[in-house]
Amino acid sequence: PPRMRFAPSPTGSLHVGGARTALYNWLVAKKGQLEEEGGKEAAFVLRVEDTDLARSTKGRFWSLGVMWYESENSVLADLTWLGLTWDEGPDTPLGKYGPYRQSERSSLYIAIARRLIAEGKAYPCFCTPEELEAMKLKMEQEGLPPRYDGTWRDADPELVRQKIEAGDPYTVRFKVPPNSRVVIDDAVRGTVSWDADATVGDFILLRSSGVPVYNFCVAVDDAAMGITTVIRAEEHLTNTLRQGLILDALGAPRPRYAHCSLILGEDKQKLSKRHGATSCNQFRLDGFLPDAMINYLALLGWNDGTDNEIFTRDELIEAFDIDRIVKSPSVFDMDKLKWVNSQHLKKFEVEDILGLVQQQLEFLGMVKEGAEEGKLRDFVFASTALAKQMMETTRDAAENAKTVMGYNLPASYADLPDGSEAKEMIEQGNFYGISMKILEMYDAGTFPTPDADNLLAAFMDGSNKAIVEDTVIGGEEGSYPMKYKETMKAIAKDMNVKGKNLFHPVR
Ligand code: GLU
Repeated sequence: PPRMRFAPSPTGSLHVGGARTALYNWLVAKKGQLEEEGGKEAAFVLRVEDTDLARSTKGRFWSLGVMWYESENSVLADLTWLGLTWDEGPDTPLGKYGPYRQSERSSLYIAIARRLIAEGKAYPCFCTPEELEAMKLKMEQEGLPPRYDGTWRDADPELVRQKIEAGDPYTVRFKVPPNSRVVIDDAVRGTVSWDADATVGDFILLRSSGVPVYNFCVAVDDAAMGITTVIRAEEHLTNTLRQGLILDALGAPRPRYAHCSLILGEDKQKLSKRHGATSCNQFRLDGFLPDAMINYLALLGWNDGTDNEIFTRDELIEAFDIDRIVKSPSVFDMDKLKWVNSQHLKKFEVEDILGLVQQQLEFLGMVKEGAEEGKLRDFVFASTALAKQMMETTRDAAENAKTVMGYNLPASYADLPDGSEAKEMIEQGNFYGISMKILEMYDAGTFPTPDADNLLAAFMDGSNKAIVEDTVIGGEEGSYPMKYKETMKAIAKDMNVKGKNLFHPVR
């Protein structure tokens, strides 16, 4: 059964690339959990790679007697929003494989370094920074790539013992076996191989401070946590050489690797902030649905071999296949994401997305404190129903509310007395205030048009709702004028109203 991991370095909130990596790993784990009986052991592990203290301690502090992990928490919150929940992670009981923060696993890395030394697979190196600098210079002068020359590789054990006892600082270096090659069968890139001798010297595992280096932690953890498959970004491909050598030395099987290509902006440059929103949190704020996000992220570097582009979460779990990850870089296409979002929105009833639209109204500053729940709900419901067929994000429903209320108001409510509160609000463009005012006036019976309540009710009522959604809101092409007129005529007849007394409130 697949044991997958997502291994973020907590340096801020989750961005699109990280989210895609997390998603692909999650999908494989979830599929593993569905299949066969032993599938129970498949897992999605969240491992926090925080050994780079300078970067990871950002937002980390002690307070009230406990440690707070701000950056980490924002990554966890983003994953939770996307619904990519983990089976094991920093917040789960230690279990068989914990702890899940590398900063809490130092004793393991040190123990493993000692073991490798004892087995002759690693050794202490007492070179000073000056000596290493001189070594580098010499190599450069000889036209060789700079690398450690193996000074302490075959040192006299007695001398090593004396230096350790004297307390001389040392790093622990990995003894790269002669003529070693690392060959992987990458699910995306095919066979990739490295000639270790030509590529690396004996590299450091533990710094003289005892702090382990990144690749050592990753290899130790992938082995200790029983990781079977690693899906990660292409930028980590070159790390696979060192990680592979370490795994071999540990006698641990290498996981299967899949290195995903970059995500680019529309100008074919690496996706970054200057292309607009790239963090998951921003997409949440902008009114995207988590299911649409993961649908789009899945397509950003994978397809199921058909033209199918809209997938539910369960369909993705079923269809996703690591061997169908594409090798060419993908371009992040905002319009496509919006389209995918609109497709997912269509599956919801108005009632189901009211909360999200209301949230958007709050983001837009259109919901003022003290708004009455019931009235607010009516307002949100109406604007959502109107936007339903054409909205791409829940933000659109909120924007729509703004437009609908504002756009028609000045003409419709010219009848309002000068200096009245409602008129003032119109002039100020306070659309939410206006709509609340109108609802109030309906209630008090002081709205310029009699029977407005009933008209609205008739217009929105069950028998007409389908027509309304289909026509006013722009459904089938060509049907709009006819059905709309029919509906209005029917209402006019049933309720015996016409002209602006009919059209304004309906608008
Ligand atoms: N911690 C690495 C990152 O944040 C991921 C390393 C890996 O997946 O092997 O990019």
